[in-house]
Amino acid sequence: MRHINEIIIHCSATPVNWMSGAEAQAKVNEIRRWHVEERGWSDVGYSHIIDRDGTVALGRPIEKAGAHTKGRNANSIGICLIGGQGGTANDVFGDNFTQAQDNALRTLIAGLKREYPTIEKISGHNQYAAKACPCFNASAWYARKPAPEISGVVGAQQRSKPTQSRTVQATVVQGASAVGGAVGALNALDGTAQIVALAGCILIAAMAMFIMRERLKAWASGWR
Ligand SMILES: [Zn+2]
Repeated sequence: MRHINEIIIHCSATPVNWMSGAEAQAKVNEIRRWHVEERGWSDVGYSHIIDRDGTVALGRPIEKAGAHTKGRNANSIGICLIGGQGGTANDVFGDNFTQAQDNALRTLIAGLKREYPTIEKISGHNQYAAKACPCFNASAWYARKPAPEISGVVGAQQRSKPTQSRTVQATVVQGASAVGGAVGALNALDGTAQIVALAGCILIAAMAMFIMRERLKAWASGWR
């Protein structure tokens, strides 16, 4: 197997409604025809093609070096997004491509990185050639929101729950360590000081309960 350390993103530079209604695989076949018949290559140049609806279709086998970025094909995987005609290198992803393509590309990158842990760079064709392709800055796009860690069906919507639950977990850990710290400080004190500190804690708790009760009363009486 060849050494893979990079994913390079491209676009097909086709209009938004190009071959609309056709299967993703039919679009791959058409791009293959351009590459084989018009450029004389052995196969389609990319390993994956992502259609407008997020469907991922396979192109040239990954084991074989692609034909997509001059001088960088040997150690990279080329992925092509369908669309991008009329776009520029300074566009953002959403100017030319769909949210479904964004999700599918991130999921695909996550899967490829798991399979080939030597992948260390996500880039775009325009970082290596004076071209608009893929019509956004791929490294900046990827850095904004790295690939999801959840494996799933390619093209499926990504969930934001794991991030939220990680935040909740962090909060719980912080709370627990704060309580642990207070108990530790209490143990370090001598007998009399412990009683004084405990009395202080009870007083603060009683005040908190009193304030809470007053607020509940105010709330119940219609002050909301
Ligand atoms: Zn390209």
